[in-house]
Amino acid sequence: MGMARSRLVAGNWKMHGSRASIAALLDALVSENPGAGCAVCPPFPYLQQVAERLRGSAIAWGAQNVSEHAQGAYTGEVSAAMLAEFGCRYVIVGHSERRQLFGERDAQAAAKFAAVRAAGMTPILCVGETLEERDAGKTEAVVERQILAVVEKNSFSNAVLAYEPIWAIGTGRNATPEQAQAVHAFLRRKVPSETPILYGGSVKPQNAAAIFAMPDVDGGLIGGASLVAKDFLDIVKAAKT
Ligand code: PEP
Repeated sequence: MGMARSRLVAGNWKMHGSRASIAALLDALVSENPGAGCAVCPPFPYLQQVAERLRGSAIAWGAQNVSEHAQGAYTGEVSAAMLAEFGCRYVIVGHSERRQLFGERDAQAAAKFAAVRAAGMTPILCVGETLEERDAGKTEAVVERQILAVVEKNSFSNAVLAYEPIWAIGTGRNATPEQAQAVHAFLRRKVPSETPILYGGSVKPQNAAAIFAMPDVDGGLIGGASLVAKDFLDIVKAAKT
């Protein structure tokens, strides 16, 4: 019998929040004590605040991005060693917004993945197709290319994969559970069997349970709904049942 894959619900707060709003959100999350299997990913300036508030709680935290470089003249960048020093556990790598808005390429995602692993943290590698690519029947080819770029240069151990169809991110239009399952089953064959594969793209309390019930969906990467404590907590609960 294979080892059970661990479940994870990670909140990607993106570029949202303030000291005050983050304090309130963390208070609400900590007081509900959702247990292990969830994480929040705040913007960089709030990592210290989040690390301190979550100390002693089972809620983990991560970063939304990292430099592929170890140190040096890289203005505006943050290294994996810096994140690790604060106790960071997860780092989102290759989010579609990084790829689409900031020109990140597959090779860069692979280098970031390597930097995160070398610093002892867990990368959450995001892959996913555009609507145009889906309509052209290229979904599997696109996500395979994105994964292979990373797998060629890294052993895919101690990592999390997130399938995030770009047409479902922030659009309110989630993939159906069957659409998610089909891609997850394809991805499952590309990574070690213990790798959790998360679905991301307009996961809400109303659709989370059906998506998480799919056999190859091991949790979610949550954008918008992760900024609302009750919604995020309901999604975390849905992943545990
Ligand atoms: C995301 O950006 O990772 C995401 C899934 O966003 P949303 O839940 O808002 O679609």
